[in-house]
Amino acid sequence: MKTEPKSMCRKCLTTDMDERQYFENLHSYIANLDDDIKVRPLLYDERIAVCKGCNLLADGMCRACGCYVELRAAMRTKSCPYGRWKAEKTMS
Ligand code: SF4
Repeated sequence: MKTEPKSMCRKCLTTDMDERQYFENLHSYIANLDDDIKVRPLLYDERIAVCKGCNLLADGMCRACGCYVELRAAMRTKSCPYGRWKAEKTMS
């Protein structure tokens, strides 16, 4: 049996959402990333610690790349645009 992808509203702009709902959605999205995309928890914590000490972090966003650092740090293939943390090496 073929299953259809879950429908998802993609029409909301951040200006249309309240801040708490917006960040809950972001955190939920991060928590539900597929395991093959998501970085190991220890490495995530190391990346976040670097970002927390970085002068380019403002309101959860990296001023160098414009990403939410928690999302960027959660993804294996992402790296810091200034090389302060690297993409996770893959076994291929
Ligand atoms: S991703 Fe890099 S440049 Fe951006 S806030 Fe983190 S450490 Fe700083």
